[in-house]
Amino acid sequence: MQKIKDYFQSLLLWELLKGLRLTGRYLFKRKITVQYPEEKTPQSYRFRGLHALRRYPNGEERCIACKLCEAVCPAVAITIESEERDDGTRRTTRYDIDLTKCIFCGFCEESCPVDSIVETRIYEYHGEKRGDLLMTKQKLLEVGDMAEDQIAEDRAREAMYR
Ligand code: SF4
Ligand code: SF4
Repeated sequence: MQKIKDYFQSLLLWELLKGLRLTGRYLFKRKITVQYPEEKTPQSYRFRGLHALRRYPNGEERCIACKLCEAVCPAVAITIESEERDDGTRRTTRYDIDLTKCIFCGFCEESCPVDSIVETRIYEYHGEKRGDLLMTKQKLLEVGDMAEDQIAEDRAREAMYR
């Protein structure tokens, strides 16, 4: 019986009509396709995009080279070298993040005791060769300087949940 039913359904293009019915149902509904890059979806202030290293308002680097972020990174994407300065404080001499390894889990920013390494809302970046995606300390500080206003605003909102 089922076979006969299937036969007539295929003869009458029943599956096609079902598909067209579904298409027709959405034809006049409000369109939800986003025309990127002209249009963009709203972003969470907890968005985890490109990394940045932050400074204090006086220009001093926040990072104290404790290496917690390096230890916690599950992808082993962070490499830090450090030395003691003349004033007895410790600072990094090398801080690299290999974005080809990073899984954007956010553990590094969660672990940082001084809110130094953060993930920004920036997601429009690319590399044309592998080295382009190696974020050196200099590059990370530049991203931090450029996005500091947004980062500070987002961290202030997030403070409620910490
Ligand atoms: S976001 Fe996660 S994977 Fe990427 S550098 Fe930070 S801890 Fe490592
Ligand atoms: S970025 Fe934060 S967690 Fe990582 S070494 Fe610097 S102070 Fe420590």
